[in-house]
Amino acid sequence: MRAWEAGKQADCYPHVAREEKERLFREIKDDERYTDYLYGCYECGICVSACPSARFYNYSPRVIAQAMAREDTDRVYEILIEDIWNCAQCFSCTRCPRQNNPGGLVSIIREVAVRNGIQETRDVLQGYSRVIYKVMLKGNQVSPDMLQPEFFADWGTWVEGFTKNMREWRRAIPLESLRGVTDASWRTDHKTLVELYTIWFETGNVELIREVDEGLYELLKNTMEEELEDAEDED
Ligand code: SF4
Ligand code: SF4
Repeated sequence: MRAWEAGKQADCYPHVAREEKERLFREIKDDERYTDYLYGCYECGICVSACPSARFYNYSPRVIAQAMAREDTDRVYEILIEDIWNCAQCFSCTRCPRQNNPGGLVSIIREVAVRNGIQETRDVLQGYSRVIYKVMLKGNQVSPDMLQPEFFADWGTWVEGFTKNMREWRRAIPLESLRGVTDASWRTDHKTLVELYTIWFETGNVELIREVDEGLYELLKNTMEEELEDAEDED
């Protein structure tokens, strides 16, 4: 149990300057969704009982709401570094009687962590670069080959078992789907892909990736720009 969960005041990450923690918290609060997602906290724990991640991880949506309602800069920083990737973004916590949205708060904090290129965030997302590549470039992420144990150590023995049965998985999900060129898997049509690329550019999501993975960013950007130029020429 962490010190602050036991009710003690702890100076989390004392080597990080207070100004930096405050700057990040300000960026979180400046998000226009913030005031819609946080109205204070009764500490009733209803969100915790609804939260699947709270069952399996050292994680609590109540802590997210409490730390923010109390404007506890140290705890918010700790959440940004350690907790946000444990949330499954299922939004079961929105049954909160105070009408908080802890999962929504996590979304905001994640965006701030990515936008600021926080090293711990880069480390966490490293294993997902192949997933991001597949989803953003091909419109789907079906590929058994992406599930490598070294990238998903926190999935435990399950992912090792998956790798051992790769032959069966490849038969179920054809290997060619890695490149999105098979009719046996779900294929995203070209018009939809162009729309997706446009949305990701316009919303700044492509740019966000630059902060966590420069190589992936260049790959996505160049391919998408080429496709968008071709689509413009065709119109
Ligand atoms: S959105 Fe996150 S915090 Fe909310 S219930 Fe789901 S996993 Fe828990
Ligand atoms: S359900 Fe709402 S009020 Fe209750 S602990 Fe969770 S965030 Fe606080």
